[in-house]
Amino acid sequence: MLTVEWSYQGGWQRPRIQPFGNLSIHPACSALHYAIQPSLGVKKPSQALLYVILSPVGSYFTTGAKPVSLWADSKYIRSWKGGTGDCKMGGNYGASIFAQYEAVDYGCQQVLWLYGDDHQITEVGTMNLFLYWTNEKGEEELATPPLDGIILPGITRQSILELAGKWKELKVCERYLTMSDLRCGLKENRVKEMFGSGTACVVSPVGRVLYQGENLQIPYQQENSLASRLLKELTDIQYGRTPSEWSFLV
Ligand SMILES: *Cc1c(COP(=O)(O)O)cnc(C)c1O
Repeated sequence: MLTVEWSYQGGWQRPRIQPFGNLSIHPACSALHYAIQPSLGVKKPSQALLYVILSPVGSYFTTGAKPVSLWADSKYIRSWKGGTGDCKMGGNYGASIFAQYEAVDYGCQQVLWLYGDDHQITEVGTMNLFLYWTNEKGEEELATPPLDGIILPGITRQSILELAGKWKELKVCERYLTMSDLRCGLKENRVKEMFGSGTACVVSPVGRVLYQGENLQIPYQQENSLASRLLKELTDIQYGRTPSEWSFLV
């Protein structure tokens, strides 16, 4: 068996020929998250190992809680109708890394994934997306794209929909949002906030979107924002500071 180790810092190491045998890898190794059976064929797995590792997470982005910048371009498509974008599957993520690097080349941190000729806004990097604005009808609205097969049905997304729905202070809905809706809303000063949602960061405010050569500045306030209120309410539930039917004491 020939093995050659590679790392970003060290490049390719010395090739080694050794007897065929098992490999030893870290339980957090990305490759392990999807299948384990020893087989070279493309087929349904015949063996699986479910295991859970727990760890604290630090700040998800190197900028901490600062708003993230997004590169919005229809060049790469994360997910499509009839595909697997609504599943947490390894294949969805490998390809997205290339686009992520291009976003960095454009001076942005994450990709804002668009879909279709009308440039529907779907997700941010590996987060669901929320827009808090005054909609076309003048209603105060918290909106996220509907689960139509191309959106990952995130647990944080669902939690935010249910939490904000209970407040009964604003319209909470699942609806399509396009880049032209966003641009128009910004022009008319109707956009209040935009943020991503996911387990690691809970909520992550968006500060800027680079789209068709134009930097769209998204309003952002550090304090008293809807995003920070949602962050507090959700983490209070997670840490047991607020009783909730979503958690129970162990
Ligand atoms: C994991 C993930 C999310 C967030 O899901 P959570 O269950 O809230 O962590 C959103 N979009 C994509 C593409 C994801 O991979």
